[in-house]
Amino acid sequence: MTVTQNILPWQKRHWDLLCSYIKQDRVPQALLITGTNGLGKHRLAKQFARSLLCTNRQDDGLCCGHCNSCHLIKADTHPDLKHIKPDEEKKTISINQIRQVVTDTYLKPQFEAYRVIIISPADVMTGQAANAFLKCLEEPTERTVFILITDKPNKLPATIISRCQKLSVTLPEKKILNEWLKEQGIHNNQETLINLVQGSILTTQQLSNNDLLKQRTDCFDDWVAIAKHTNHPAIISEKWQKLPETELLNWLISWVTDLIKYACLINPRQLCNQDMANSLQELAQRLDLKRLYGLYDRLLINRRLLGTQINSQIMIEEILVQWQQLNGRS
Ligand SMILES: [Zn+2]
Repeated sequence: MTVTQNILPWQKRHWDLLCSYIKQDRVPQALLITGTNGLGKHRLAKQFARSLLCTNRQDDGLCCGHCNSCHLIKADTHPDLKHIKPDEEKKTISINQIRQVVTDTYLKPQFEAYRVIIISPADVMTGQAANAFLKCLEEPTERTVFILITDKPNKLPATIISRCQKLSVTLPEKKILNEWLKEQGIHNNQETLINLVQGSILTTQQLSNNDLLKQRTDCFDDWVAIAKHTNHPAIISEKWQKLPETELLNWLISWVTDLIKYACLINPRQLCNQDMANSLQELAQRLDLKRLYGLYDRLLINRRLLGTQINSQIMIEEILVQWQQLNGRS
């Protein structure tokens, strides 16, 4: 597990709060970190875990990076740090996974410090798993800290939420964000990038670092080809299988949002996709607003289904069929 020691500028106050817990020796038994994707929730959780486990913590609350604990964490072999993730096939966190955790907590942590268990995303615990976890929270064990991470806290039982100390990571102010992006070497198109990733700030790095921006442009060309009936939904949906599905759906949503804005005669400067303005305007001229809203609703529903057992190729193909029908016969 690699963790950068720097605290993200928009997490400074969260970090100060976490450090104060350690200093005052009142570390909560359970911490719930919420906020949309791409704001660095995991990074914050891991930084806190490292500090809790470090035997030579620095004055600023950060771990030393050199002690035995720090080395074990770097090697991903610290016995007192566990990360509970969903089962790859079922995409849920099962009762057996939680039972294992509960069994572990019967034993003392192997080192002198804490035991940290990160559950992420916490909202995919099955009902049974959540119940078992709740029992575990009701019977606190010595020096054990649970860190629950989710971008969908409303999917967690209220009984669990009420037993956690809450920490909500939110989008930073524009000024802080722009400065940070510059530090990352992103000087151009900052606003377009942020709009594109819908606030997932850490994704902007990937966007500028790899060919995601190029993939998006290619994908848009395919989208236009479907509208013009020069390509087929089945062919494109197969081609798009290799694309990251969350990004793909976010792009589709942002294009449809911009088309709706055009149709409603909203100032084009407020578009998410400034670089595609001309093509979007051309498309918008022949589209029916009501049917665009229909497609938009479908996209939002489909985005919520990502990560479930839905067949994404069929899902994308159906979206493309609807998109082609919307564009009539040309
Ligand atoms: Zn250390």
